[in-house]
This record gives sequence, C-alpha cells and structure tokens, in this order.
Amino acid sequence: MKLIEKLMRDRILTKDEFVDLLSGTSDEDKEILRQEAVKLREKYYGHDVYIRGLIEFTNYCKNNCYYCGIRRDNRALERYRLTKEEILSCCENGYSLGYRTFVLQGGEDPWFNDDRMADIVSSIRAAYPDCAITLSLGERSVESYRRLKEAGADRYLLRHETANEEHYRKLHPEEMSLQNRKDCLYALKAMGYQVGAGFMVGAPGQTFECLAEDLIFLHDLQPEMIGIGPFLPHHETPFADENKGSFELTIFLLSILRVMFPNVLLPATTALGTIKATGREQGMLAGCNVVMPNLSPVVNRKQYELYDDKICTGDEAAECRGCLENRMASVGYHLVVDRGDFKA
Ligand code: SAM
Repeated sequence: MKLIEKLMRDRILTKDEFVDLLSGTSDEDKEILRQEAVKLREKYYGHDVYIRGLIEFTNYCKNNCYYCGIRRDNRALERYRLTKEEILSCCENGYSLGYRTFVLQGGEDPWFNDDRMADIVSSIRAAYPDCAITLSLGERSVESYRRLKEAGADRYLLRHETANEEHYRKLHPEEMSLQNRKDCLYALKAMGYQVGAGFMVGAPGQTFECLAEDLIFLHDLQPEMIGIGPFLPHHETPFADENKGSFELTIFLLSILRVMFPNVLLPATTALGTIKATGREQGMLAGCNVVMPNLSPVVNRKQYELYDDKICTGDEAAECRGCLENRMASVGYHLVVDRGDFKA
C-alpha cells in the first residue's frame, strides 16, 4: 500500500514512514493528497473561510528566539504597547467589519501581568459576548492561563515550534525549554481552551526527521488549531542570512495536516502570503479554512515585523478584509461572519 493511501486510511504514519512521505512523494501523489485535503475541508467547513482579527498589542519580548524579529536583543526595533482603550478600539473596528474572533498576540511582555491581561480580556468579553477571544501570549504559568480563561478567553495559540529537542536548541537560547512549551500546551488543553500548536517550515536546522516528529507530536496533542508557515529570515536576527522555508513543502504539509486532522482549524498564514503573492489562496486549495487579517493600528504594523517584508503592514483593517474577500472568491471560497469554532 502506498504511503498516501495509508495516511488517508489511518490518519497517522510511523516516524520513518513520515520521513519517506516527506522526502519521496511524487507530484502525482501530492496532487491526490491535496484533492483529498480539499474534500475533507469541504466536508466539515464547506466553502466557508473563518476570519480572525489579529491585534498585535505589544512588541516587547523578554525572549531571545534566534529566528524572531521582535527578540529581546533587537535594539534597532522601536518598541510599543497598545493601551486597553486602543485594544478595545481595534475590536470595535473589527466587529463592524464582521470579525467575531479577536486574537491578542504579542511578545512575552511582563508589563502585561495577570491583573492587566485579565482586565483586558474581561473588558472584551463584556463588550463582545458573541465573539471568541484567542490569546497568543507565549508561555505563562498554569495559574495565569486559568485566570485568563476565567476572564473569558476561549482559545490559545502557542506554536510548539519544533518537537525535537536537538532542533529546539538550535532555535532557542539556553534559558528556554521545549519541555515547558509542551507542558503549557497540555495544560491549556486540560483547562478547556481550544488550543493551537504548530511550527515554521524550513526553520534553520530542520530535517525531515524533525518534521516527522512534529506531525507525531501534533497527533498526540490533538489540537483544535494548527498554525504552520514558512520560516522567513529577519535582518536583525542571528538567522539573517539563512534560507527561507520552501513554499511547496509548506503546501504539501498543509495537505498532510488536513488529512491527519480532517476537522482542524487550519490558517493560511501571513508568512505564506509573504513568501508568495497568492500563497493564502493556494493554502485554501491545500486544505486551509482560516485567515488571520490584521486589526492592529497601521502606525504599529511595521514594528511587529517578525520577518522581513511582511505583507499588509500599510493597509487599513477594512482594506485587508476587502482584499482577502477577493482573494478567497478567486478560488471559490468566501469569508463568513462567525466565531468559527472547531467542529468536533
Ligand atoms: N510570543 C508568542 C509566542 O511565543 O507564541 C506569540 C508571538 S510569536 C512572535 C508568534 C509566532 O511567530 C511564533 O510562534 C513563530 O512561529 C512565528 N515567527 C517568529 N519569527 C518568525 C520568522 N522569522 N519566520 C516565520 N515565522 C516566525
């Protein structure tokens, strides 16, 4: 039996089989898998595309991940924090544009301690009872995750980045720990958050073995959301001169993920749209069902540059929405006004 057939039947392979799948699949078989991914996506989500309004509310970060443009040691970056009022005004703008999920994302900024964060979350919850609140704040204590859940958060995005210990060490300084990242994900899940994990495709040092371990880790975790996108270098990081990730491999992995997790929420990421102009459209045609346009104030957009040449940094939120509407329509899909919860 061919590996793509086994994957379609069992939704999981062994590590060695995943390595073979990633390294040795013909273009014809990739196309068969892509079509299966689209079929599954349409079975659960039809032609709907869920939109998430991304609010990048702080670019301060205490971490020093080697790949990331907002890392602590990037002294060339002008730092900013949005006030609670500014965050609420992003939500107001987003709500009027049809967003029913707000994603608060930021660097790991100690200024946003539990009191401040819980206050922001409960204010959004009170003002928008029909919306989902997603947090993407990095690693925090179990107690902190619990407080934020109680304040009204529904979902949490925390890419695991890599499931392989050795690879993790090539991407992160000594003070960070893969075990802690994984523990956070399992704790969030146990608490009842809808959880998103994921990784960068083509991060420096990544091998097919690493990717196989990523897929197996995701299978163990069973997240409701999976975020993957190509690694893209940022000029003020130690990885400035590293190669970009591969667009084609990202698309292949998106199809693999849809086949492994037929009902998962799978975004066509901004990084995918950055590496190729039609990246997010092609993501949809590989099994994606979510896009995450930016609601951050235009004045701050450029300061949240995780990698060089990030798209949409000059566009108003309304323009981003209109642009995506057209892009999705071009491949037969449409944006919907919906919380866009995971369909169990
Ligand atoms: N601080 C939070 C965290 O660690 O989860 C959220 C913000 S963090 C900047 C969001 C994601 O950006 C990371 O999980 C990482 O995968 C992605 N990212 C960072 N640098 C990148 C790069 N150079 N290329 C592509 N993606 C990148």
